[in-house]
Amino acid sequence: MTNETFEQLKVAYESGLTRPLAWRRAQLNALRRLVMENRDAFISSAMADLGKPAAETVLMELNLVAGEAQFVRNRLGLWTARHPKAMHWMLQPAAGWTIAEPKGVVLIISPWNYPVLLALEPMADALAAGNAVCLKPSELSPNTSKLLAELVPQYLDAEAVRVVEGGPKETGDLLKNPFNHIFYTGGGRVGKIVMRAAAENLTPVTLELGGKSPCFVDRTADINVAARRIVWGKFTNAGQTCAAPDYVLATPDVAEALAKRIAVAVTEFYGKNPQDSPNFGRIINERHFDRLCKLLPVGTVPSDEPSSPLIQVASAVGAAVDMVGKRINAAASGNTATEARPDTTETGIVAVPGVVDPAGRVMCGGKVDRAARYVAPTVLYGTQPDAPVMGEEIFGPILPIVVVEDAEAAIRFINRRSRPLAAYVFSRDHEVRLAFERQTSSGALGYSLPLGHLLSSRLPFGGVGGSGIGAYHGKEGFRTFSHIKTVVSKPQFPDTLRLVYPPFNEAKAKL
Ligand code: NAD
Repeated sequence: MTNETFEQLKVAYESGLTRPLAWRRAQLNALRRLVMENRDAFISSAMADLGKPAAETVLMELNLVAGEAQFVRNRLGLWTARHPKAMHWMLQPAAGWTIAEPKGVVLIISPWNYPVLLALEPMADALAAGNAVCLKPSELSPNTSKLLAELVPQYLDAEAVRVVEGGPKETGDLLKNPFNHIFYTGGGRVGKIVMRAAAENLTPVTLELGGKSPCFVDRTADINVAARRIVWGKFTNAGQTCAAPDYVLATPDVAEALAKRIAVAVTEFYGKNPQDSPNFGRIINERHFDRLCKLLPVGTVPSDEPSSPLIQVASAVGAAVDMVGKRINAAASGNTATEARPDTTETGIVAVPGVVDPAGRVMCGGKVDRAARYVAPTVLYGTQPDAPVMGEEIFGPILPIVVVEDAEAAIRFINRRSRPLAAYVFSRDHEVRLAFERQTSSGALGYSLPLGHLLSSRLPFGGVGGSGIGAYHGKEGFRTFSHIKTVVSKPQFPDTLRLVYPPFNEAKAKL
């Protein structure tokens, strides 16, 4: 079953409308204008959807879309040119080359967390490659979805670019169509639904998924810089960033100091009460708010009060019994902390004395306000691997710090889990860096820099294993939405291919 939008896009694509470079450049210019001229409207919609600060919308969404559109537009001539390739000697004289052709009619399914960026950045790449595009924004960011549905037809060629609003039902209907490519960004559960539907039509997919991106810190790192950058990477968009550091793995000689500095950096960025800060966002909806509350240490309950007294008590008790500087390697020494948690089968995890809740001790935050969908930037110290907060992608402003013996233990920890979208390493030790680079697998690896890789059109962005299939941004995005066609040509006269025709003889067998 195909729907009308798909059919109309197919007619537009097959008419050849989207192929000329002039059309593609005009669309990319228009896309750039779309975000620049409607800056305020996008700021308002992201604010309404996510309480997103204006600067975050501009820096992390609008500027990136505009930059990507310009980047790919300026390189279209080069990328669409013939690329000559050498031919096998047996075929000589002959020529070979590749050309990029558009895939056709493509579907982009985008999520709510960066509702402009993750809709329009893949669109820039798809348009650059000469496709007709159907965009399905997330129903969970309804204000931005509506705005996109209004603006796209005003700026882009409505014959070849459509926005279809809706949720699972509408997406399911779209997925029945034989698109030539499906580009999906979101969680893995729906990623599987998308891939199953695509299999029916043998449609290639790009899946931009999430996961638990680790961040390792050892004593060679500058703790102040590490703390600030981790806070920036984690708490931007209230932690609802696919490649945000999900959790920290810190060595015992630095872990507590780091936890304290991170708490200080949170105050520097968002003030004493982040709920009053114009720089800190909100959780997308109540379902996600409730999910996040369950990840907090026992005693943190959803409350309309700005502060949960239970958390403060739990923190105070934890702090009182903490023996600062005397950390025990629970796995190695078999102390009571480990014995109390027989589920912890991992080696190299260091228990922090006095930390009673597997989720860890609250170093800052812990306040929640359901009516405002507010979860304070929360730092947990001494988290155990079997805590619920370590069981799923957090996707919110909660940062657990797990204490590990050393880099080797951290690498083991990462490799026991699904391959993450990103891994971050704060260490100035060259050998440690190399070990992470060679012994772990992740979509990207950042030394002392969370999120940095996703801000560049020059670097491919995508996951690996459970964090995704395929990549985009810049040339990689152009290739994702293109079919790279091989072309070969050989003159008909003289017919030197005679060399390989039967009948065969001994001389041919020796060639
Ligand atoms: P979401 O709920 O907005 O879903 C994404 C899209 O899937 C939406 O357009 C939605 O309408 C559609 N959808 C939802 N249920 C569906 C169903 N049953 N059938 C068909 N379509 C359906 O977003 P989400 O999944 O909550 O997004 C969060 C996840 O996305 C996190 O895991 C995050 O890490 C990941 N993410 C990854 C990237 C990346 O670039 N790799 C970026 C952002 C988010």
